Amino acid sequence: MDGIKVIIETCTGCGLCLRACPYQAIELREKKAWITDNCTLCGACVEACPWKAIVIAGWKPIPKEDLSQYRGICVMVEHRFGELSPIVPEIIGAALALKQQFKGDPRTVSALLIGSGVRALSEELFAYGVDEVWLLDKPGIDPFAEDILADLAARAIRDRKPEIVLGGGTVMGRSLLPRMAAKLRTGLTADCTELSIDPETGLLRQTRPAFGGNIMATILCESSRPQMATVRHKVMKPAPKEIGRTGQVVELDYKVPKSDFEILEFVEDTSQKLDLTEADFIVSGGRGLGDPKNFSYIEELARTIGGTVGASRAAVDAGWIPYPHQVGQTGKTVNPKIYIACGISGAVQHQVGMKGSDVIIAINKDPNAPIFSIAHYGIVGDLFQVIPELIRQLRSKEQG
Ligand SMILES: Cc1cc2nc3c(=O)[nH]c(=O)nc-3n(C[C@H](O)[C@H](O)[C@H](O)COP(=O)(O)OP(=O)(O)OC[C@H]3O[C@@H](n4cnc5c(N)ncnc54)[C@H](O)[C@@H]3O)c2cc1C
Repeated sequence: MDGIKVIIETCTGCGLCLRACPYQAIELREKKAWITDNCTLCGACVEACPWKAIVIAGWKPIPKEDLSQYRGICVMVEHRFGELSPIVPEIIGAALALKQQFKGDPRTVSALLIGSGVRALSEELFAYGVDEVWLLDKPGIDPFAEDILADLAARAIRDRKPEIVLGGGTVMGRSLLPRMAAKLRTGLTADCTELSIDPETGLLRQTRPAFGGNIMATILCESSRPQMATVRHKVMKPAPKEIGRTGQVVELDYKVPKSDFEILEFVEDTSQKLDLTEADFIVSGGRGLGDPKNFSYIEELARTIGGTVGASRAAVDAGWIPYPHQVGQTGKTVNPKIYIACGISGAVQHQVGMKGSDVIIAINKDPNAPIFSIAHYGIVGDLFQVIPELIRQLRSKEQG
């Protein structure tokens, strides 16, 4: 493995590095440590070796820090064209819920707002309930230049030292937050579905689906700060808006570095016009449709109730419908007023994306399909008979 070396003369074969390696990337060969291709150069073995027998070129240990100097919760603000992204109230909602859990030991909720001409957004952030806005408003900060945004954000976090940083599990957040975490040399849990404060330790409990969604893992970041997490759109309850609420603006002033990105042109992504996450009514189709042309049943029912068309991954993978329609763990998280699942078995990865819907109606010919375990109303039957009958009845009601 390049970049990492075992000094054979010094290695005693004690095996401490094997235990320390989180990737099972070390074996003992002839009583000496042997690094395999699983190695990620994380450095855990270097720290664990009392004999200094493992070296990584250019690797420096993370200096031990006094973690108690980190305090408060910071929300990374995402904005576009002078408006807050829809996920921002949800991240603030999550931050305020965490704040309440620090009973008797209050925390400040801050919003880190970086951009050019973004000052006016502070008022809206206060209306959503943040106590402070850490504002860096300077010319030349391109909202798409994630390298400079990450650089500036990491500097602000280093200076202000919040113990928790929350961001959106959006296209932007997925690119920006990992860059920040790498610069800050801390961990990041992506796409959390639940966040809470451990009452004993005060640590952030970051819960997210793991192993293909089959288990929920709760992750703690014990030894580095800040504790960083992203949340997906529509998972957390948005903070209510109270116009006129105020707070403190903390002005930040850093030199804006030059971006390595060069934006050549903007091309409008028309596929994103489909906003499944904002829809009140969704009719989704799955593999049970049997053929792409049968999505016409789903479209017809969606039209009848003024809804939007969703799909399972099986239908998307089969090429029956484009990816923006996919609901679930690797698709969109939705919470409409009514979600109608047609010919969808209800695999856990699908459920993760739609179980927050107010009312779930399932149409499936298999009475044992898992979707019925979360459906409020279930129709056991052939969708090719049930859907036309539903449409007929809905239309006759409309006319009557
Ligand atoms: C890492 C990972 C991520 C994933 N992410 C997602 C995701 O984001 N979204 C997602 O949906 N899946 C996801 N999956 C896939 C998921 O595990 C399932 O394979 C998928 O959801 C199955 O789709 P389906 O319900 O349409 O198909 P199936 O499981 O094949 O179910 C088809 C259903 O249709 C019913 N049916 C058949 N004919 C009829 C009929 N005529 N009338 C009524 N009912 C009928 C059957 O009884 C059956 O229950 C993911 C999997 C993995 C491993």
